Amino acid sequence: MTGRFAGKWVWITGASSGIGEASARAFAREGAKVVLSARRREELERVAKSLGSTEVRVEPLDQGQLETIDAVAARVLDATGGIDVMMHNAGISQRSRAIDTKLSVDERIMRVNYLGPVALTKALLPSMVRRRAGHFVVVSSLVGVFGTPLRSSYSASKHALHGFFDSLRAEHHEDGLRVTIVCPGFVRTEVSRNALTGDGSPHATMDEAIDRGISADECAEGVLDATAREREEALVGGRERLAVYLKRFAPPVFSRLIRRAKVT
Ligand code: NDP
Repeated sequence: MTGRFAGKWVWITGASSGIGEASARAFAREGAKVVLSARRREELERVAKSLGSTEVRVEPLDQGQLETIDAVAARVLDATGGIDVMMHNAGISQRSRAIDTKLSVDERIMRVNYLGPVALTKALLPSMVRRRAGHFVVVSSLVGVFGTPLRSSYSASKHALHGFFDSLRAEHHEDGLRVTIVCPGFVRTEVSRNALTGDGSPHATMDEAIDRGISADECAEGVLDATAREREEALVGGRERLAVYLKRFAPPVFSRLIRRAKVT
């Protein structure tokens, strides 16, 4: 098998849909063996079938159920002999103002988007350090770099990933471990339909901006490229990426624009 990830085991969460599914195809095309995780087993089986002759392991996982993560990771490590790339991609978004959002919703978003990846990372770290190899690829968001209206908890959960994984990168560089944080802008997936409203029910709407976004395959190419180049951070998307530079170099202008932004 040839390709930039030939013979490597790549574990992808959120692989039953959108960016995770497209990334499974992209890594498999580059010769990787893949572990697919998310809650819906039947969707993971569908994705597995679409990967042809690639060696695939389907491992259902609800990453909000923190107490189950160690056992799943132990099973995966046993079956694969070690994970080379851990792509933390599973996540849920939000469509509600902080004032209208129940604390239970803040807690759920934080558990799925932040604590789940942290628990899974801690379960894999000892084996990666022992093997002196391992690459964490973390799917954050542009709102992991700045906050926008209607995304308070979601943005917080993505910012938290940056803090945790920036620290981890520094702690384990000498152990041969690498961390890549990918920040997508708008990507045409189910993300807005699955996003939580203030009472925890799904938004169930395809947002205009998401519908006009890049495809999941284009995003997956960005993920693959950033991983292969061992980039520390990568912005993937369209013109919305410019907001990162506006926030960095002209914060008052950014603030004026973002409070008027029509973010649904
Ligand atoms: P989708 O809603 O299409 O995919 C989300 C994936 O996460 C699904 O595979 C879902 O599978 C999985 N998932 C959700 N909750 C859990 C859970 N508790 N445990 C395990 N898996 C779970 O959206 P995207 O593909 O767009 O989202 C992927 C990532 O990209 C997310 O982290 C999102 O925040 C991020 N992102 C997306 C952007 C976009 O515009 N699309 C922009 C910026 C970031 P299942 O339901 O089977 O569990």
